[in-house]
Amino acid sequence: MSNLYKPRIYTKDIFTIDYNYLKKHQIKYLLFDIDNTIAEVFKKEPSIKTINLFNKLKKEGFTIIIISNALKKRASRFANSLNVKYYYLSSKPLKKTYLKIIKENNLKIEEIAMIGDQIYTDILGANKLNILSIYVDRLSSKESIITKINRLREQRLFKKTSIIKRGEYYYE
Ligand SMILES: [Mg+2]
Repeated sequence: MSNLYKPRIYTKDIFTIDYNYLKKHQIKYLLFDIDNTIAEVFKKEPSIKTINLFNKLKKEGFTIIIISNALKKRASRFANSLNVKYYYLSSKPLKKTYLKIIKENNLKIEEIAMIGDQIYTDILGANKLNILSIYVDRLSSKESIITKINRLREQRLFKKTSIIKRGEYYYE
C-alpha cells in the first residue's frame, strides 16, 4: 500500500534533477507543481533562475505543463511568465486533471514525469496513474493550513514506513 506514496525519484529541488536521466528514460513531458516546488507560496512570480531552467529544458525538447491546485490567477501568472501551459484547481491527488492533461495533449503515460513537493497531492496523484513521480524538498516552511495538515500526514507516513529519509536523495 505504501508504494502508492513512494516517489520513484527524490531530489533536493528542481535544479538538481538529472534531466538527462529522464531523457534517457523516454520522458518528454514534465508536469510541475507551483507552490513550494518552483516558488515559495509568498512569491508571485518565478525567479530568473527558474525561467532560465525552463527555457533550457524547452530547448532540450521537453514540454512543460503546470498542474496546480492553486486558483487560476496564481497558476496563470506563473504559466505566463514561464510561457507554458497550465491547469489550475487541479484537485491533486485525484486523477481527473492528470487524465485531462493526458487526453487534451495526447500524452503517453510512460513519457510523463510529475515533479512536486507533496506526497499526498503530487506524488500520490502521479503514482495512481503510474506516472513517474519526482519528489522535491519544499522551498519554504511557509505553507497553507491544508498543506500543513498534509505535512503532518507525511511526517507520520515517513516515520511509519520509512519510504523516505529526509535528505537521502535517490533515483528508482
Ligand atoms: Mg506544492
